[in-house]
Amino acid sequence: MGIDHSSALEALDVGRFKRLYVGGEWRDAADALEVIDPSNGCAIGHTPMGTASDVDDAVRAARSGFLAWRKLSTNKRRACILKLTRLIEQNEKELAKLESLNMGMPAAVARGFAIKACYRNLDYFASWMDKSYGDVVPLTGQFEGNLDYTRREPYGVIAVITPWNTPLLFVGSKVGPALAAGNAVVLKPSELASWTSLRFAELAAEAGFPPGVINVVTGDGRVGEALCEHPGVDKISFTGGIDTARHVMQAAAKNVTPIALELGGKSPNIIFDDANIGKATMGSALGCFALTGQACAAASRLFVQDKVYDEVLEQLKAFATGFPLGDPMDRGTIIGPLVSEKQLERVVGFIERGKKSGAEVVAGGERVDGELASGYFVRPTIFTGADKGAEMLREEIFGPVLNVQRFEKVDEVLEWANDSSFGLAAGLWTRDVGRAHRVAHALEAGVVWVNSWGSIPNSAPFGGYKQSGFGREGGTAALDEMSQVKNIYLDLKD
Ligand code: NAD
Repeated sequence: MGIDHSSALEALDVGRFKRLYVGGEWRDAADALEVIDPSNGCAIGHTPMGTASDVDDAVRAARSGFLAWRKLSTNKRRACILKLTRLIEQNEKELAKLESLNMGMPAAVARGFAIKACYRNLDYFASWMDKSYGDVVPLTGQFEGNLDYTRREPYGVIAVITPWNTPLLFVGSKVGPALAAGNAVVLKPSELASWTSLRFAELAAEAGFPPGVINVVTGDGRVGEALCEHPGVDKISFTGGIDTARHVMQAAAKNVTPIALELGGKSPNIIFDDANIGKATMGSALGCFALTGQACAAASRLFVQDKVYDEVLEQLKAFATGFPLGDPMDRGTIIGPLVSEKQLERVVGFIERGKKSGAEVVAGGERVDGELASGYFVRPTIFTGADKGAEMLREEIFGPVLNVQRFEKVDEVLEWANDSSFGLAAGLWTRDVGRAHRVAHALEAGVVWVNSWGSIPNSAPFGGYKQSGFGREGGTAALDEMSQVKNIYLDLKD
């Protein structure tokens, strides 16, 4: 007997998630995709599958929504966003359960981090609505004595395309600044985890947004592609994998639509021998294994300085084998299942090839059997001794697989750490303040954590270097991303 979620499913009435939200109305979808609970492999409901024609209607509705949104006063627009913020907060428990059912997110992560991040971001961006302004441009020479100033204006219709790993978190970090900057949105969540985005649409309807300001069209990559090549979309904000990103760029090229891309990573994490070892190992273990490794910024490549290598490895093994693994709906669970059978096969494939390549498995290294065998559970896995060029040190696995390597000198570890086509996040653990800054400056990543991993304040910019994407979420950078600058020049002479 595996994990049983039948009473949660009944209480949550998930059968209602069969329609799309377009122009303030719910409409039936032409088709539906079966939703599988990753905890037990059971079919638990459906995700409505939109079509290109739904996308077309949603983009048109968003255009009229944008015009209506623009006519509202700032105070009224902010009141709508804040009401939605409170509704998400009030429904946090339910939203957390929906994330657990769709993608196996542990309740503690959903409630302690992902759902909170959504409503805190909405709150944060709403609070900028009367604080963000343009510049008065200094003029010299023939222009002196006249006036030049800038305004931040919305793009219009933003297509927001999200992945399955933290669906509602991305709604907060993308839809939040888009609305606050004055845009309307068409949201397309992943077909694997759409229920919280549909619930978000229900709450948006309750919050009183004008029709068309928020639209949700669920479906697979075909819906995403139809959105990206639609001439009525003014900007695309995409988070997902690099291969999909290439398609997004090609589709966007048709209408020269601007895009922001948040992609994957293979993030390096360095423990120096003067670090607080207990804090560093706990942070590094959670940095890699939290969300079962299905995090873009997973700390998957760990470098440990020679003197503390053995001590760190022992502690890491204890964490990997000791983290409670099981039903994501239990508050004590830290390691839930992987999202799907396909993802399970992918992760197990990396582990098996890693073993064959000669690297040594010192913890985990297998799928979980027994009572959990029907779910997509893999034990937190630690490899040591992988070759520098090994596949698992180069490719994003998106599973609970940590590679640990020993180093002696700073220059050597920096060379290894930066030897990656990705550049999303990096981390280091040390008590030496000077070294902390020097190494942080030398790491090729959009985000560097010192004595911490995964801390993403909503006021700070987040985004990648290299093939981890371009554009930033978080803070005022997100508002800049969702608005365009207009320059106005006035000749004041008579
Ligand atoms: P994915 O690329 O498969 O899908 C992402 C979204 O794109 C989904 O909604 C999908 O339906 C849609 N899509 C698929 N084909 C499309 C197309 N041709 N045109 C437009 N849209 C299309 O990614 P995933 O498997 O859902 O998520 C995992 C990936 O996301 C990982 O690579 C991970 O690193 C990345 N990710 C990045 C961040 C970040 O902030 N940098 C955060 C989370 C996840």
